[in-house]
Amino acid sequence: MEENERARPCVVAVDGPSGSGKSTVSRRLAVGLGARYLDTGAMYRAITWAVLRSGVDLADAGSVAKVAGEVELRVGTDPQGYGVSVDGVSVDAEIRGPQVTAAVSAVAAVPAVRALLVARQREMIANAGRIVVEGRDIGSVVAPEADLKVYLTASEAARAARRSAEDATDVAATAADLARRDRLDSTRRADPLTRAADAVELDTTGLGIDEVVARLRDLLTGRGVA
Ligand code: C5P
Repeated sequence: MEENERARPCVVAVDGPSGSGKSTVSRRLAVGLGARYLDTGAMYRAITWAVLRSGVDLADAGSVAKVAGEVELRVGTDPQGYGVSVDGVSVDAEIRGPQVTAAVSAVAAVPAVRALLVARQREMIANAGRIVVEGRDIGSVVAPEADLKVYLTASEAARAARRSAEDATDVAATAADLARRDRLDSTRRADPLTRAADAVELDTTGLGIDEVVARLRDLLTGRGVA
């Protein structure tokens, strides 16, 4: 922490579709930089878990927003062991389950949910000093002043293969789910998945994690940040 405090503040925004390597790359980059790490997808997933628990209709934006505003959401920022809780209950495993994954893009499309979480994310970024933040709208909306904005991509086949290996699910079903979420995330009105004009795009299809992290470190060094 002492080292963190002495180090120059720095915000790295990592955006891209599911399976592009964002989480693994962002966590590893944060460890190397002695930085905090924020998984904004986990925040949308946790709110979705709370919405499903409440039983309100997912199509009822007002009720979904009400649940989001009432729950106590906590997200850790330690890249080596962050945890997410809702109303004091740890939901780390639950938010990765199929029900939450199927519903999260609908909840994340509700403008009031986004406004609430974007404000929380900005607050966490301001308090962190050095932080790597991953999501869909970090470079474009949450942290447009980030020191480095990265947009990770990968072929659909590579993304589906990675996700199905992680979740031990069928590749074809995973590919269909990714395509569905990409479509919803890219076409929603509020803060869609988009590459910021000044983001560096990196196709991770044939690259290993270490190679991607090394490229990002080089970019940061080139900017005199790390
Ligand atoms: O990154 P992850 O796949 O866990 O994100 C789950 C979902 O949360 C995405 O499919 C998207 O609908 C939503 N999300 C978002 N904005 C972010 C991060 C995630 O809308 N910044």
